[in-house]
Amino acid sequence: QQASNRVHRIAVIPGDGIGKETVPEGVRVLEAAAKKFGFKLQLDDFDFASCDYYARHGRMMPEDWKERIGQHDAIFFGAVGWPDTVPDHVSLWGSLILFRREFDQYVNLRPCKLMPGVPSPLAGRQPGDIDFYVVRENTEGEYSALGGRMFPGTDREFVVQESVFTRHGTDRILKFAFDLAQKREKKHLTSATKSNGIAITMPYWDERVEAMAKSYPDVRWDKYHIDILTAHFVQNPDRFDVVVASNLFGDILSDLGPACTGTIAIAPSGNINPERKFPSLFEPVHGSAPDIAGKGIANPIGQIWSAAMMLEHLGEVEAGRAILQAIETVLSEPKLRTGDLKGPANTVTCAKAVADALA
Ligand code: ATP
Ligand code: MG
Repeated sequence: QQASNRVHRIAVIPGDGIGKETVPEGVRVLEAAAKKFGFKLQLDDFDFASCDYYARHGRMMPEDWKERIGQHDAIFFGAVGWPDTVPDHVSLWGSLILFRREFDQYVNLRPCKLMPGVPSPLAGRQPGDIDFYVVRENTEGEYSALGGRMFPGTDREFVVQESVFTRHGTDRILKFAFDLAQKREKKHLTSATKSNGIAITMPYWDERVEAMAKSYPDVRWDKYHIDILTAHFVQNPDRFDVVVASNLFGDILSDLGPACTGTIAIAPSGNINPERKFPSLFEPVHGSAPDIAGKGIANPIGQIWSAAMMLEHLGEVEAGRAILQAIETVLSEPKLRTGDLKGPANTVTCAKAVADALA
């Protein structure tokens, strides 16, 4: 084992609902990893970016939120949203979207990995068959606010919305994806395109992929049109290693991928600023789950896996991998699984089992 003396400053934000239950359990495992691998954590708790905070202050975050968490190395996030009190678009745009934009988290990263003990909706698939990443561009592309309506309410009404692909924005997401592919065993990158239908932006995307590939001679790469790509996610998920996509296509694939691996309760995600100029944010794919909040029964694995991704981002690669291995150990054991996976464990006992397996 390689001991590092590094100190990582983490902003810990539980947010709403089951986030308040899963985040402390993620922290439990982070602390166990710090102890084992010899790094230090400075954990600072924040109560904003939650609907409770909104109830008290009439907004999701304080005015100086950026100063308060901008110097941290990463944000460890639970979930946001409590639709009974604050509409989802208000809670989301007042917190996560601001982080994404202000901290230039231009990569959305989601591992899609079939784990032991988690039934895949894809018949006959075993752990090991599905193990890839979806890399989604998070800041431009199809999700622009450029456009509008002409002649509204008339027969001539027409509506236009532009897509925006900059060289800067395209190349930086492709570079991240190729870097990731290069670090993996299979060294294989797949690009999602639609250049047979979207005749201006997608050929440009293809062109930039081809140009970037020249700097990565050891990475094998291919491209699929988005329609057939989604079919292959379901029929041949073993084909993929790193899949890179524009904002819209990535949005679709980053939900489809984890769906193929069974349950959102265990899936993690990262919103990443690779240069580490700003803090990156790590959170489970699931939401605040109001239907089970406060009962102590939420599956903590998505949160704990997010912790593993965060440590890898912070350079604690060995610790991140060890947490993932501990997760696999726990999921292999029926009595350590939570109720959503038909086991008897609760949030705390499941997370303690991961921490024990790690130690
Ligand atoms: P979002 O907030 O992402 O828009 P949502 O609020 O519809 O989505 P979730 O909060 O993720 O969705 O919950 C969807 C369903 O999955 C709920 O029935 C919830 O109980 C269940 N669920 C989500 N996360 C977990 C978890 N960690 N453990 C057990 N069940 C979960
Ligand atoms: Mg929700």
